[in-house]
Amino acid sequence: MSFSEMKLNPMLLRAVQASGYTTPTPIQRDAIPPALQGRDVLGCAMTGSGKTAAFVLPVLERLIPKSRGATRALILTPTRELAAQIHDQIEKLGKFTGLRSATVFGGVPMPAQQRAFESGVDIIVATPGRLLDHFQHRYAKLASLEVLVLDEADRMLDMGFLPDIKRVLKHIPKAQQTLFFSATMPKEIAELSGSLLRDPATFNVERKALPASGVTQAIYPVPQDAKTALLLKLLETDTVGSAIVFTRTKHRANKVAKFLVSKGVDAERIHGDRSQGQRTEALAGFKSGKYRVLVATDIAARGIDIHALEHVINFDVPNVPEDYIHRVGRTARAERTGEALTFVAPDEEAQLRDIEKAIGNKLPRTRLEGFDPRAVMPVAPAVPNVRVGVGRAPRPSDVRAHKPGATSKNTPRPASSAPTKPAHPRPATQAATSSHTALGHAASSTAPTGDAPKRKRRRRGGRGRGAKPATPTT
Ligand code: AMP
Repeated sequence: MSFSEMKLNPMLLRAVQASGYTTPTPIQRDAIPPALQGRDVLGCAMTGSGKTAAFVLPVLERLIPKSRGATRALILTPTRELAAQIHDQIEKLGKFTGLRSATVFGGVPMPAQQRAFESGVDIIVATPGRLLDHFQHRYAKLASLEVLVLDEADRMLDMGFLPDIKRVLKHIPKAQQTLFFSATMPKEIAELSGSLLRDPATFNVERKALPASGVTQAIYPVPQDAKTALLLKLLETDTVGSAIVFTRTKHRANKVAKFLVSKGVDAERIHGDRSQGQRTEALAGFKSGKYRVLVATDIAARGIDIHALEHVINFDVPNVPEDYIHRVGRTARAERTGEALTFVAPDEEAQLRDIEKAIGNKLPRTRLEGFDPRAVMPVAPAVPNVRVGVGRAPRPSDVRAHKPGATSKNTPRPASSAPTKPAHPRPATQAATSSHTALGHAASSTAPTGDAPKRKRRRRGGRGRGAKPATPTT
């Protein structure tokens, strides 16, 4: 079925064409026709499948004939990046309709978002926490709401947002139509969808999420201590251009990015502790080519949509197979091709086996020609593998490496390691000799896993003791 056979409004068809979408993706073929008939939809859709347009197009179609000035659609999504991207797609696909959308997420001031509510913007794309903050005010009634979209519901569950979602649902009127998307269907999500949806058009629910078929996947067995050297060496090869590098924790993302920059690689990082401005700049810089490497944690990277991203490097094996699928889904989007390279240390083999089980495939092991982990291990800086309960214990050598202040940004960089912005950084072994990064001191049982839900008190300002905790939005 083509887009024109779906009987979309000509304004939408024009925008679809202008976006370069020639044929609907499978999820769009499944979801759009029943959604256009006003039915509820329950879709099991992996990232990169084109699911955003699968719900954006029916929402726009529904709102085109309606009068303006009232918010009629609410899209709930787990992360700021994802919210921003959905908003972008609404702008792109709705550009001939005059419909307006606004994002509502944390990390940016409230007043502009308040104005969006007050002016009755047609569509609000929100993360649950910030939305709840607005719900404390009278202007955020959403009394005219007709359509509710839940995007990446399983991820919202993973991030601890389920109670927030339930509170949001209590606050808003019962939607006439609900479009519900989740890559997987854990019990809680199945229950939530069961309570929300009426006779939904359901598809792919039983299908296991798999990385897109255009992704070539490879495993690099490598000791933890040699990962940074391997990364650098890979970046020296002609085959790896720009890449997203995933680490398990924010701390490790900082360390890897800092290491790459110290070796002359243009790198930035994106994770939950960075301000919205920093995240936007990092992503925009990566997209424009200013940064060759974007180091990211899972949750921050959830919504990243980079059109022609060819390489995803899993510096750490993700703890759960779904994260692997989502990470790998950053590449080969919408039927392009890409490569996903995963560094596996001996203590990560168990997680790798889980991934292989989930995707039903044994992934090919490979090694980088000319790279000998044993040769670099003693001198290459390691990034501590900090994981609650599973990671290796800090070694005496890690602890000895940590000198107070050595990681401070004021530390003079050895002249030989000053960033020179070469297209190809110096060989790992040479680079390693000049590096003296203090690492390995952060192994503590409180270390977070990725950007796992955090309800921390703001350091300065914000809500005081005893007040509602800051709401996580990533
Ligand atoms: P999503 O899974 O919604 O994040 O979409 C992944 C990427 O696919 C985005 O860059 C979309 O712009 C693109 N896309 C969505 N639908 C189509 C289509 N029918 N044809 C080509 N690209 C598409």
